[in-house]
Formats: sequence, structure tokens, C-alpha cells
Amino acid sequence: MTLRKKLGLLTLAVSLILAAGCGTTPQESAPAESSASSASSSASSAQPAKEEPARVIAADDFSNLALSAPDVPVFDKYTIAQRREKGLPTELPEIAPYREGRVAYLTFDDGPDARNTPAILDILKENGIKATFYITGAQAEAHPDVVKRIYEEGHAIGNHSYDHHYEKLYPSVDGFLGQMMHTDDIIYSIIGVRPLNLRAPGGVVSQFTSAYPPALKANGYVEHDWNVSVGDAAPGNPVAQNFIDNVLTQTEHPATAHTAIVLMHSNEGHLETVKALPEIIRVLKDKGYSFGVVTPMTPQPW
Ligand SMILES: [Zn+2]
Repeated sequence: MTLRKKLGLLTLAVSLILAAGCGTTPQESAPAESSASSASSSASSAQPAKEEPARVIAADDFSNLALSAPDVPVFDKYTIAQRREKGLPTELPEIAPYREGRVAYLTFDDGPDARNTPAILDILKENGIKATFYITGAQAEAHPDVVKRIYEEGHAIGNHSYDHHYEKLYPSVDGFLGQMMHTDDIIYSIIGVRPLNLRAPGGVVSQFTSAYPPALKANGYVEHDWNVSVGDAAPGNPVAQNFIDNVLTQTEHPATAHTAIVLMHSNEGHLETVKALPEIIRVLKDKGYSFGVVTPMTPQPW
């Protein structure tokens, strides 16, 4: 890749991140949803057993993470602290990025919430598509039933910090890792497994110093920014049609030819994202994309 091309990609990455916004304010707490869960129905013996979605639980030595399909989420049965206690590795081996075909990774940050995230899950189910939810620890604590539903319906979950406060995450690697491990514990307490993937609030390009990548690698975290931003956190109250237009435009960029990682938000206030989602899915299908979930083998967006 030429230097000029690299600079062009970097400029686009920065402009997408600035446009994305990604909310620097703490999450507002929404009312707790009912305790009803799709998994807690009292199935009688006459009913078929609930079908488990496809997912991979990492081997103790992480040797099983090169997968044949891009839409199978990966989790770890241990937290990082548990791996250290057991003397198991925390650092992932080199995994070849998945480069088959044309794959779109729908990602939803900052949730879950009681309204928009369940509506998004309904749309994904209607379309038979799996996606990735980068959730915060604070929102997971407030909406554990929605976290369970995301997991039980076969989607990927990524760690998106505890409270999304940049001033706690970016002065120091320790502050960042502390929030990630705290959020791992919360997610683990709800679904019994830990995500390996994370997304840095605000994105790596605008937030990480050189100290962050080696610290993440040592702890087995895999970070993914995005190369398509629908713009649903941009100022000026953008509406669903703006998001659809952004997907149409940004997927023309060569960086998205094989891997389009699409940034959206699923927390409170993002009803326009819910409205846009069916058309965003249709647009991506028309452009020849299949749909995957973010795992350690997902290519980097840039
Ligand atoms: Zn965010």
C-alpha cells in the first residue's frame, strides 16, 4: 500500500470517528424491564428442547479460534483472572483473518437498553442475521435479561467499558483495563462466559496511545473499530434516511470490499437506528454482503 493510500485511509478513519461521536456522556439508566425471558419459559417434556445457537467456547489454549464460518460468536469460559489463577495463557495465538467473500459486521454500541435493543433483536431474527453488541457494564447491570437474550439468540457480545467515561479510560492503561475486567465480570455473572472482543469507546484511532495495544494483547483482548459509520451519534438529530445514505456511500470505499464493520448504537435515544435497520440490511444484501459477527479472526477494518 502506498503512503498516499495509507494517509487517505487514515484521514477517512479519523473523519468517520469524529462523525460517529459515540457519546461521551454517561448512560442514562432506563427503567428495569420485566423479568420475563424467552429462555425461562417452562417447557414441558412434550415440547422440543430449546435449540442452542452456534457458538464457540475457546479452548484452554485458544487453539480452536480459526473458524470456518464468520457468523459464529466466540466466548471464553474463563475470566482473565481465572486464567491467571489456573496458569492458562491469556494471550491469543496469531489467527489468520477471515477473508472469504464479502462480509458485513453489524455492530451496536452502548446498549443494551429496554426498548431499542430488543427491537433490533426482533429485526435481526426476522432477517436471520447475527450481529455484534458492544455493551457497557453499566447497561448490562441495568438490563441483564436483554444481555441473556442477545447471547441466547446467537449474537456476539463485545466489551465496551463499564461507564464509557473517556476521562477514566484514557489517562492510563490501568484505568482502561480495570473497566474492561470489571465489565467482563458483570457479563460473566449474567451469561457464564466472557467476550474476547472489545471496542474502545471513541475508537482506537482517536483515543489509544502506543501503550494500549501491547497491554490489550497481553490480556487477550481483540479490538475492532469500524469502517462504516451510519452516523447515528452525530449531532443535529440525523434520521433513518441519513444512516441508509451513509451506508450506501461508505461501502463504496475499497476498505469495505471484503469487510464492512458497521457502527450503530442500540441504547436509549436511537429509535431512528431501529427504523433504518431493515433498509440497511437490504442495502448490504443488494451489495452482495453476507453477515458475520466480530470474533478474534475478524479482519481489522483499516
Ligand atoms: Zn460507545
